[in-house]
Amino acid sequence: MLVPTLVPNASANEDANTGGNAESNRIHPVTDIIKEPYKRKGSQMVFLERKKLKAQFPNTSENTNVLEFLGFRSDEIKHLFLYGIDIYFCPEGVFTQYGLCKGCQKMFELCVCWPRQKVSYRSIAWEALAVERMLRNDEEYKEYLENIEPYHGDPVGYLKFFSVKKREIYSQIQRNYAWYLAITRRRETISVLDSTRGKQGSRVFRMSGRQIEELYFEAWSNLRESKTGVLQYFLNWDEKKCQEEWEAKDATVVVEALEKLGVFQRLRSMTSAGLQGPQYVKLQFGRHHQRLRSRYELSLGMHLRDQTALGGTPSKLPHWTPFLSMLIGLFYNKIFRQRLEYLLEQISEVWLLPHWLDLANVEVLAADNTRVPLYMLMVAVHKELGSDDVPDGKIDILLCRDSSREVGE
Ligand SMILES: [Zn+2]
Repeated sequence: MLVPTLVPNASANEDANTGGNAESNRIHPVTDIIKEPYKRKGSQMVFLERKKLKAQFPNTSENTNVLEFLGFRSDEIKHLFLYGIDIYFCPEGVFTQYGLCKGCQKMFELCVCWPRQKVSYRSIAWEALAVERMLRNDEEYKEYLENIEPYHGDPVGYLKFFSVKKREIYSQIQRNYAWYLAITRRRETISVLDSTRGKQGSRVFRMSGRQIEELYFEAWSNLRESKTGVLQYFLNWDEKKCQEEWEAKDATVVVEALEKLGVFQRLRSMTSAGLQGPQYVKLQFGRHHQRLRSRYELSLGMHLRDQTALGGTPSKLPHWTPFLSMLIGLFYNKIFRQRLEYLLEQISEVWLLPHWLDLANVEVLAADNTRVPLYMLMVAVHKELGSDDVPDGKIDILLCRDSSREVGE
């Protein structure tokens, strides 16, 4: 009945298949593999897989990163660089299985890593994940993590999936981050006077550079006097004390104190930091931001010299660790971020901490055309938002304060 019709079809398919095989046999000796015993067949497949991956990601013996793979030029990479993106960037369960090859997360007999491979496929995969994060807000990223669930245990499979959209991702970043690259590469300088919304909605945008600077110094001297925990304060205007933070001689003690107070845990439960591994924010205080740190410390030294030369007492500017705490607090402060992005029309959203740090350190022109670092303007906006004279921001702040009380106490 069905058989007579099926047979000719099947043989026709077989013919087509044979033709296809003959074609590919000339390139890959597939028939040889078939004759091999099971184990060697397996290792041959692994070998082919290795070769294929090597062709796709050729620079794994050097310090390459996924931006290079996507086709960015080195001057762009300098500013888009993914500092501090490591395994802790990945949420729990994503590329974090134990007992498998560390480089590719496959069983050892199926490992596709090359000997002396410096950059593992897993590390390229978490960078690829960071790149996808760059293009999404918190909700979209959450959804994305769910969508890639089949790859949570398979960074190599994820990389292949990622590679297919290579060109699309490249042009999306070029589009979404054009403003960021222009500003961080100092091709463009932000003038606050160009922001209509800022001029109308905030007094900070009408202040001179000197006034903004003084607001910044004042904010820090208040924090120092009251021994307020810096990260928590910039995160939600909470003025909880953290004495150890102000008395600590080195960063490790500060980080331990923050941990003891549950700051990192609160951050994870309240903000998008929960989309990363539990150690992620804490480890930002390590050696990740060395380049930025030395730049900051250089400017700190210059500032102290200026102050001394002017005969004044040296301003007590924060050292690196509280400074970084401030920027991290501001980064995860959603109300503040929305306000700043609304007021300062020349900037848009960035979703990775290293980009936020880089951005905060550009100089902007205040209303009197003098230059101040963007982070000073940020603190002035943060202060204005925390005070009672911003009617449209007030309700949100109260909500945020309430939720922090629930979690914290
Ligand atoms: Zn491996």
